Amino acid sequence: EDNPSGTVEVLGEKLLNGLLADGFDEGSCLSRYQSASYRKDSPRKPSSYLISRLRSYEVQHKRCEPYTESYNKTVEQLKSGHQTGASDCNYVVWISFSGLGNRILTLGSAFLYALLTNRVLLVDPGVDMTDLFCEPFPETSWLLPADFPLKDQFASFGQNTSQCYGKMLRDKKIANSGKSELLSYLYLHLVHDYDFHDKLFFCDQDQTLLQKIPWLIMKTDNYFVPSLFLIPSFERELNNLFPNKDLVFHFLGRYLLHPTNKVWGLITRYYKAYLANADERIGIQIRVFDIGTGPFQHVLDQILACTIKENLLPETNRQESINVSKTHKSKAVLMTSLSSGYSEKIRDMYWEHPTVTGDVIGIFQPSHEEHQQTGKQMHNQKALAEMYLLSLTDVLVTSSWSTFGYVAQSLGGLRPWILNKPENRTVPNPPCRRAMSIEPCFHAPPFYDCKAKEGTDTGKLVPHVRHCEDMSWGLKLV
Ligand code: GDP
Repeated sequence: EDNPSGTVEVLGEKLLNGLLADGFDEGSCLSRYQSASYRKDSPRKPSSYLISRLRSYEVQHKRCEPYTESYNKTVEQLKSGHQTGASDCNYVVWISFSGLGNRILTLGSAFLYALLTNRVLLVDPGVDMTDLFCEPFPETSWLLPADFPLKDQFASFGQNTSQCYGKMLRDKKIANSGKSELLSYLYLHLVHDYDFHDKLFFCDQDQTLLQKIPWLIMKTDNYFVPSLFLIPSFERELNNLFPNKDLVFHFLGRYLLHPTNKVWGLITRYYKAYLANADERIGIQIRVFDIGTGPFQHVLDQILACTIKENLLPETNRQESINVSKTHKSKAVLMTSLSSGYSEKIRDMYWEHPTVTGDVIGIFQPSHEEHQQTGKQMHNQKALAEMYLLSLTDVLVTSSWSTFGYVAQSLGGLRPWILNKPENRTVPNPPCRRAMSIEPCFHAPPFYDCKAKEGTDTGKLVPHVRHCEDMSWGLKLV
C-alpha cells in the first residue's frame, strides 16, 4: 500500500498504537493488521503500561500453553481431584455461552480477570469460535484442547454443580476466610441468574481464596468488568492499565477480537460497496425485545423521532417544492435488525420525498435473519460482521439492553444515542439519549458491601462506576 507517511507511523497505526504485537502472519488473519485502515486514528491511545502488560501476558501464555509441562502438571491435578502444591501456571477457562454479543463481552471480561490475577485465558471453542475469530496471542493458541478433562461437563455446569464456588459456600464446604482446601478447580457461575453466594466472587476475601486454585472455569453472559473496579485489591493495577476508565472494552476488544478471513470478507465487501464513498456513515442498530413479530409502528416512529430530533438524519419535504440547497451531502445509513421492515420503510421515505437539506440518504441493511439462531455458523458470522460494520460508522444509534449494540459502540469508540426502551408500545419521550461513555453495561451486578456485609448501591460508590442509561440497575464505567 502506498502510504505517504513514514514507516514508523504506518506501523504504529497498523498495530493500533502498540496494542497489537507485530510479527503475525498477515495472510492468515487479514483483519488483524487491516482493520486500522478502516478506522479513523483515535486520539485516545492505550497506556504504555497496558501495552507492556499485554506483551508480558503473551509471553506467559506461550509459557503455559496447552501441553507444556506446567499445563500437563495442572491437568494431572484436575484428574486426581486435588492439588499437590502451587503451580507456576494458573488458568481461567471461558465457557462458550449465550448470544454472540454477550460472548464477545464476556471474553473481554474473562481476559481482564486473567490479567488481574496472573492467569492464562483458555477459550472453549464451542461450535463456532474458530469460524469467527483468529488467534489473538502470537505463536500460541487460546483454544482449550478437545481432550481437556472437564469439557464434557461444561454444558451441565450450573449453580448446583458440586464444584460450583457459590454452592460450596452455601453448603459450607469451603470458607472464604482462613484456609482453603487444596482444590484443583472451581466452577464460577456468573450467569445473570446467579445468587448471593455466587456473587461473593466480587469480594476481596473471596479473591484471596480463588488465587490458590489452579483452574477456574467460568460461565457468564455478563460484562462484569465494572464490578472488578470495585474490588480494592485490583484498584491499583486497573488504574495503571486504564487511566481512562471508559476505554476498557474498547482496547481489550480491539486487542482480542480479530474476525477470521471469512468474516472479514463479509465486512470489507459490504463496507466498500455501500459505505466507503459516503460523506457520512450512520449506524442504526435495532433490537426489539417485545414479544410478537415486528416490524412495529412505534419502533419505526421512535427511530425517526430520535434521528431527526438529534439531527442525525434530515426531515423530508412533503411540499414537493424544489430544493435549491447547494451542499448535497451523501449519508449512508447502515441499519441492522432481525427484521427488514424498518429499513424498508425508511428507505422508501427517502426515495419518495426529497430531504429539506438536499442531503442524499442511502439506507442499507446487510441481513434480516428474522430470529435469533445462536449456534448456527453463517448466522453468527453475519452477526459479527454487522456488529463490526456498525463499529465502522461515524455516528451510532443503538437499542437499549442490547449487547450487540454495546460491542459495536465500544469497538468503534462511539458514544451512541440510545433508543429508550418503549413501554406499552408507545414512543418514549425523549425517544433517545446520548450515552455517558462508550463502555458496555453490566446487566446483573452485585449490590453488596463486602466489608460491611450489607447491601449497598454499588452505582454510587465511586465516580467512575455509575448506573447505566438503558438499565437503571446496571453498572457501567464512565
Ligand atoms: P443481545 O441479545 O441484543 O444482547 O445480543 P446477542 O448478540 O448476545 O444475541 C442476539 C443474537 O441475535 C445475535 O448474536 C444474533 O445471532 C441475533 N441478532 C440480533 N440482532 C441482529 C441483527 O441485527 N443482525 C443479525 N445478523 N443478527 C442479529
